[in-house]
Amino acid sequence: HAKKSISKNAAFYSPAMDDETRKRLDIIRNLQHDFECEKLEVWYQPQIDLLTEETVGVEALLRWRDSKGEFISPEVFVPLAEYSGLIVEIGKWVLAESVRRLKVLIAAGYSHIRMAVNVSVLQFRDQSFVNYVKYVIDLHGIPPKLLELEITESVVMDEPEIVIQALNQLKAFGVHIAIDDFGTGFSSMSYIQKLPLDRLKIDRSFVKDIDTNKDAFIAQAIVNLGKQLGLITIAEGVERKSQASQMLKLGTDEAQGYLFAKPMPFSDLKTYLLSHSYQKVAPDNT
Ligand code: C2E
Ligand code: MG
Ligand code: MG
Ligand code: MG
Repeated sequence: HAKKSISKNAAFYSPAMDDETRKRLDIIRNLQHDFECEKLEVWYQPQIDLLTEETVGVEALLRWRDSKGEFISPEVFVPLAEYSGLIVEIGKWVLAESVRRLKVLIAAGYSHIRMAVNVSVLQFRDQSFVNYVKYVIDLHGIPPKLLELEITESVVMDEPEIVIQALNQLKAFGVHIAIDDFGTGFSSMSYIQKLPLDRLKIDRSFVKDIDTNKDAFIAQAIVNLGKQLGLITIAEGVERKSQASQMLKLGTDEAQGYLFAKPMPFSDLKTYLLSHSYQKVAPDNT
């Protein structure tokens, strides 16, 4: 439909647009190549309890470097991985990799730390997704409640029926669900009650000016909504101490952001946790 109107109107078909299209196809081809060559990485960003300042979880974040070793932002390549369908296979790999790392943390005595993994709507459209999640959990023998899947509002709005059904199955299995970037989507308030959620991630746009702007009422309303729904609330993008203390004042439970730690490779995470989290049980050194 859109294509037809473009070909009728040659003015739309500018050389610049061809360049853009070619650039995108290049990125997709390179991404597929590097994924197949096992060059993608998963980094981990700590999530902190605002009261105790203990690390209570980590979010798995995909990392990809170009041939010069420079990082390409997931904001650029994840949408292209979705557009091309590559995200289905890449997403499975991120999940397997993250759960494998979670198992290592548990064996090291961190039996309370959650692993949060981002999930795209295309993965929900894949019929085998729910079973794959169960398979990976069973394979590594981790408690399902230590795995949390992060979905955005657009994931839910795209395919409400399919997504809600899958989420209910995952929830019944014990997996936790977080709504990511909350407040930025095209959501109606009604759908949020229908989802089996555990955690609400307050988008960083609401956290940004919380310490300088006296009108904190939107952030307060989101925190209150989360509490009314019985969810744990977590502030995203906390970069300053004053933002953390302000979010705590509003009643936010947890925070994630550069103030505490940037995303890091797994080897650095293990070092970080030695000084930022208590171990509930003695490490298993066998
Ligand atoms: P997200 O899930 O909302 O992840 C949080 C993003 O905020 C991450 O960006 C993180 O590095 C960044 N961040 C954390 N703390 C701060 C801070 O204090 N200040 C600022 N300015 N930013 C902060 P990142 O890693 O570039 O990822 C961007 C987005 O790409 C993610 O947003 C998520 O939507 C997507 N993404 C990343 N990894 C995956 C993945 O494995 N699968 C899928 N489907 N999407 C992913
Ligand atoms: Mg996320
Ligand atoms: Mg987010
Ligand atoms: Mg985001």
